[in-house]
Amino acid sequence: MGNYSIVALPGDGIGPEITDVALRVLDRVTAALPDLTVSVASHDAGAERWRRTGTAMPEETFEACQRADAILMGAIGLPDARHPDGREVNGDVIFRLRFALDLFAGIRPVRSLPGVPDTLAGAPRIDYVVVRENVEGLYASRTGGTNVRGEVATDTIVITANGTRKVCEIAFDLAARRTGRPQDGRRVVTCVDKANVLSSYAFFRSVFDEVADAHDDIGRDHVYVDAMTAFQVQRPETFDVVVAENMFGDIISDLAAATVGGLGLAASADVGYRHGMFQPAHGSAPDIAGRDVANPTAMVLSTAMMLDWLGRRHDDQAALDAAAMIDAAALRVLERGETVTADLGGSASCSAMGEAILAALGDGTTGAAR
Ligand code: ATP
Repeated sequence: MGNYSIVALPGDGIGPEITDVALRVLDRVTAALPDLTVSVASHDAGAERWRRTGTAMPEETFEACQRADAILMGAIGLPDARHPDGREVNGDVIFRLRFALDLFAGIRPVRSLPGVPDTLAGAPRIDYVVVRENVEGLYASRTGGTNVRGEVATDTIVITANGTRKVCEIAFDLAARRTGRPQDGRRVVTCVDKANVLSSYAFFRSVFDEVADAHDDIGRDHVYVDAMTAFQVQRPETFDVVVAENMFGDIISDLAAATVGGLGLAASADVGYRHGMFQPAHGSAPDIAGRDVANPTAMVLSTAMMLDWLGRRHDDQAALDAAAMIDAAALRVLERGETVTADLGGSASCSAMGEAILAALGDGTTGAAR
């Protein structure tokens, strides 16, 4: 019997609107599954809170996140909410949680969704996952780089054997339980780097190869990041699981989202060995906030990822079923094409999309492949 405590951080901009939808969906699905209980504690964190109080995330919220079984985050940050030294306030929440809870792997599924017009005309089915190293790489020093006399600026890339091994293991484990790449069903993990130019990336690749050697039932591939951006457009069906250093993972996962319908559909998870944080890949979208026009689908699919992660972690079929139900309901709404939000060319509101997903939960079966 799964009984989970979740901390919800609705956050800024469209965060509260899409979190509201996700929590209603979560509520509905747990009501339908007697073996699953999820209690949610919502906490106020983010740029708005920082403006009001001077603190983006109080210690009490951080500790609640530490204790929680999982964290569900809407969107944190606003472009003009910055510390006097220029750092965006969202780092006080997102980076803090990522680093302190060692959420070292960013998981971003990329798949063609039914009813969503192909961005890439005539492209075959796309179904891969980007695994991004989350706490090292070029972002490790964050704002700790140097600026010498306004003439020279440097940032240091950090690649460790341990950090690279951990994220590569996650990628191979993921490949082992997926069905393989759309092109031919082959399971293959692709390492994306720039090993031909920087020794740090050559090192990343060498550690990847060591991990790959221990998984000889799964294929391996290497692609330079510049070529990768072209292949994501030209032959996306040849990818299954892709693993990359922090900054490269950031960039290729945004490009990936654009090839399958855009940010409003892009779910993501930041996970480590003990903790998991689930949030849409997009930001707080202040340009459309407060108007009930955001697409809540990425948030709802991230909620499904959370339940799936909990289900696997705790060997809990009810949580796995809940994940599959939510995923299938969101996909059914997209496929029917009757409720379409503005980002996908329609005029349905965020709340109408939420209602449609709730209705679809009531009329379908489980079993969407995840
Ligand atoms: P961040 O740096 O915090 O990730 P960003 O600068 O990448 O944020 P987003 O907030 O992700 O920006 O928004 C980018 C664009 O995508 C905006 O025009 C925004 O309106 C749109 N967008 C983002 N999320 C959604 C959504 N859920 N529904 C509809 N449009 C969205």
